[in-house]
Amino acid sequence: MRQTVARKRIDQSLTKGEWEHVKGITLIGDAAHLTPPDGDGANWALYDGAALAKPIAANRNDIEAALVAFEAEMLPRSARSSIESHQSFERTFGYNAPDDLRAMIISEGW
Ligand SMILES: Cc1cc2nc3c(=O)[nH]c(=O)nc-3n(C[C@H](O)[C@H](O)[C@H](O)COP(=O)(O)OP(=O)(O)OC[C@H]3O[C@@H](n4cnc5c(N)ncnc54)[C@H](O)[C@@H]3O)c2cc1C
Repeated sequence: MRQTVARKRIDQSLTKGEWEHVKGITLIGDAAHLTPPDGDGANWALYDGAALAKPIAANRNDIEAALVAFEAEMLPRSARSSIESHQSFERTFGYNAPDDLRAMIISEGW
């Protein structure tokens, strides 16, 4: 049962930046927002840990409120990062990679 719940939530978090909160449970790092590799995953996993610690420290007597507050910040942030990761992966390894990378290099002024 728990596996089914977690799987649904991961899919939702990647596409919509939201999921239905499940009492007493949250996810961080790759479990919450696995994306194509672009050098951000470990950074976001560490960031999530710190972002979850803050509301827990501020709501020591109400862990549920802390989990909800964490997810309200983490989900839209991870959705934005996920979209960027997919775009970066497509630009680097997609069908038009040579042209897309060239366009990026020119637009960035490198
Ligand atoms: C080849 C490669 C290169 C990468 N390069 C970068 C990079 O340059 N920069 C960057 O920021 N990110 C990079 N990443 C991504 C980064 O490694 C991950 O995003 C990051 O490790 C996620 O951390 P995590 O703690 O969420 O998950 P994980 O690091 O996967 O940790 C999960 C842990 O849980 C354990 N576990 C699993 N199931 C159970 C269980 N049932 N009971 C107990 N323990 C369990 C696992 O053994 C593992 O130790 C790279 C990934 C890969 C594969």
